[in-house]
Amino acid sequence: MTTVEEARRQVAVANRILAREDVVDAYGHVSMRHPGDPGRFLLARSLSPALVTPADIMEFDLDCNPIDDDRRPYGERPIHGAAYQARPDVNAVVHNHSHAVIPFGVTDTPIRPLVHVGSGIGPEVPVWDIADNFGDTNMLVLTMEQGHDLAKCLGSGRVALMRGHGCVVVGPNLKEAVMVSIYLQVNAQLQIAAMRMGEVKYLSPEEERLYQEIQFSPLSMDRAWEYFEERADLGGI
Ligand code: MN
Repeated sequence: MTTVEEARRQVAVANRILAREDVVDAYGHVSMRHPGDPGRFLLARSLSPALVTPADIMEFDLDCNPIDDDRRPYGERPIHGAAYQARPDVNAVVHNHSHAVIPFGVTDTPIRPLVHVGSGIGPEVPVWDIADNFGDTNMLVLTMEQGHDLAKCLGSGRVALMRGHGCVVVGPNLKEAVMVSIYLQVNAQLQIAAMRMGEVKYLSPEEERLYQEIQFSPLSMDRAWEYFEERADLGGI
C-alpha cells in the first residue's frame, strides 16, 4: 500500500509534471485521496505547482477543512473535496486553466476526441457555468455549495469544463488524472487547428473505448509517466 510519505511525493511530482507541460501555470492544482483514509485528501498549500515539494502537501477532510495545519490553503479546494464526496471511484483531481481548453467552455463548440490519445476525455464533456446557479461571481469555486454544483455537472465522467475559467479532471488514480489533463489540452489544441482546416472527423465512441483499453494499461501508463517525469523539473524532490 502507498504510504502517506510516498503519496506526498507523488502529488508533488504530479504538480511538477503538469507545470512542465503547461497544463498549469501560476495557478491550478492537483490532489490525491489519502491512501490510508478515504475521508481525507492531500493537496499543496497555496503555491504555484512548479514549486511544490512533498513538504508543501497538506491534508484536508472532504469538507476541505485542513487537518492540524495552519498554512494558507488554495481557495478553490472545494473543487477537490466535492469531487471526492460525490465520487467514491475518484482518487485524484486536477484543476487547471489550460488556455487551449477555454474556447470550448465559452462557445457552443463541444470538445470531442479527435486523436487517439484524447480518448480519455470521453465522448461528451459537460460545461459547467457558475453563473447558472450563483449569478455574477469572481468565477472561483470558493464554497462547498459551488463545489457540489460542479461535481453534479461532472456526473460520472472524467472531465468538466468550467465556463470562462478552466476545467476539472478526475481519475481513479493520480497518473490517469494527470494523463487525461495533458491530453485534454493536446486534443483542444489539435481540434482548434483542425476546425480551421475544415470538417473534423472525430473518433467514434467505439474507437474511443478501444483506445482507452490501451491508454490506461499499465504498460502505457508506466511508459508515459517515466517520460513525463524525465521531462519535468523535479529539483531533487
Ligand atoms: Mn481556478
